Amino acid sequence: MTIPAYDPNNIFAKILRGEIPSHRVYEDAHVIAFMDVMPQADGHTLVVPKAASRGLLDADPAVLGPLFTAVQKVAGAVKTAFAADGLVITQFNEPAGGQTVFHLHVHVIPRYEGVPLRQHGRGMADPAVLAAHAEKVRAALPAPGTA
Ligand code: 5GP
Repeated sequence: MTIPAYDPNNIFAKILRGEIPSHRVYEDAHVIAFMDVMPQADGHTLVVPKAASRGLLDADPAVLGPLFTAVQKVAGAVKTAFAADGLVITQFNEPAGGQTVFHLHVHVIPRYEGVPLRQHGRGMADPAVLAAHAEKVRAALPAPGTA
């Protein structure tokens, strides 16, 4: 599989540079996390490394530990905030793999017994609702420096 070059004009690179807004829930030295604008379930959150790579295969391996440490932290908060029965954690590579934004990211999606997910990348959420959801996730995260 040939991996195309990283394009710094992708939407998550713009969010990382602060050029477009997002409903941010978490940031540390290595990652930011924010609400997905087309959530497959309420609370659908994206965890995005600050380091540029298109997907998993071209990522610096040193990025992956801090990325998944943050995924674990955010996932716990999302599960608590949305009283989820479970979580699905996904990461897509290249269009054939379902990827639509070409900066490495991990989806954290609450799941409930018997409730199907909404479609991937369809149906823009109300910004006010996303803002309220982001606040719930932030409130469920441990205070910085405590975990
Ligand atoms: P992928 O298919 O690349 O794994 O997922 C990209 C995700 O980014 C989709 O779930 C989509 O809803 C979300 N997304 C696309 N554009 C934006 C945006 O401008 N802001 C945010 N917060 N999420 C976005």
